[in-house]
Amino acid sequence: MLLKNLSILYGNDLQYLRQSNLSINGDKFGKLGLAGKGIDCEGLLLIPGFINMHTHIGDSIAKDATLTGSVDSKIHPVLGAKQRILRQSLPDHLVSFMKNTCHSMIRKGITTFVDFREGGPDGVALLRKALKDLPIRAFILGRVETYQDKTQLQQNQRLSDESKRTLANVLRISDGIGLSGANENSDSSLKFFSKSKKIRAIHSSETKQSMTYSKKITKKTETERALLVKPHFLVHMTYAGISDLKNASKKSRGIVVCPRANASLAEGIPNFELMSKIGCRVGIGTDNVMINSPDMFREMDYLWKTHMGLHQKRIDPKEILKMATVNAGLILNRKMGSIKTGFLADGIFIDKHSLDLEPMHNPYASIVQRASESSISAVMIGGKIIHGSL
Ligand SMILES: [Zn+2]
Repeated sequence: MLLKNLSILYGNDLQYLRQSNLSINGDKFGKLGLAGKGIDCEGLLLIPGFINMHTHIGDSIAKDATLTGSVDSKIHPVLGAKQRILRQSLPDHLVSFMKNTCHSMIRKGITTFVDFREGGPDGVALLRKALKDLPIRAFILGRVETYQDKTQLQQNQRLSDESKRTLANVLRISDGIGLSGANENSDSSLKFFSKSKKIRAIHSSETKQSMTYSKKITKKTETERALLVKPHFLVHMTYAGISDLKNASKKSRGIVVCPRANASLAEGIPNFELMSKIGCRVGIGTDNVMINSPDMFREMDYLWKTHMGLHQKRIDPKEILKMATVNAGLILNRKMGSIKTGFLADGIFIDKHSLDLEPMHNPYASIVQRASESSISAVMIGGKIIHGSL
């Protein structure tokens, strides 16, 4: 397939090409500048598909079910309202609401999402069921639902044989592990998780409370212990200190921030600029559907404005857009997230003439703060138009 007369945000630097021809070879991007018969894409801007680096779409059934109370009362892995709702819901209902969230994400230009799936092997299987026949790409990071208490942590109790067996079952059908956090696992367990060959990720330093708890019971920071998992990426890091960020920059591929989720829990805003300055690669996730909408346009706009507002400092919107695309591909270490030869042909065709965008003087600002679902003409995954039309 040859796309003609197309504007493109090309390569890892999202370079704006005003008018180009781009070939698609199978499910990958081909070369620029080829001539020949093709589809006229005059008026369209192709950008990389969004990679939503952190979701829990299993709780799509519980939208805004609890808005008051502490973070733990809402999403604690054992005691939270979320777990109660998930336990009481019929699996078929969970599947149908997870499917709805996938459709919603596709319409908003999200071509890949990375989900922390609760519920052990059954939880992973349920999401696999929801994804059947859906074109969106998903990385499912499962977990074992065993949580160690303070005494078990202090005694450095090892993971039980039963949990090890469950973990093996999770890993057989998932893309890796997504751990709830270091505070529920002993050093021995965290080190055991680090041996998994698939993707390893963990929540860390999401709240002041979780940071204080870690110091109190283990004398180490939460991130110091989270790094025992040898995670490919850490999620949140909103309250991580400078030395934690330095360690994260050396020992992981990056950090995923979830600004709107943090704010909706009244837990601050992550300082992504500081993270980048220290050398961490930063991606963006929308986190629990229960507390936040899976919309990367809103996430980018929010992050851009709150950061500039709080720190009274200008940020180039291109850096925000990279977090939602290029950086995510690099954190996942897959050929995705950029429009360049050999990368997966996942993209969003933005209508440059749409009411909210025309005239487009700065494509990065247009996408970060003005574009929405209604600015999308088509969404492509693996070289196929799966939503809208050209
Ligand atoms: Zn999360």
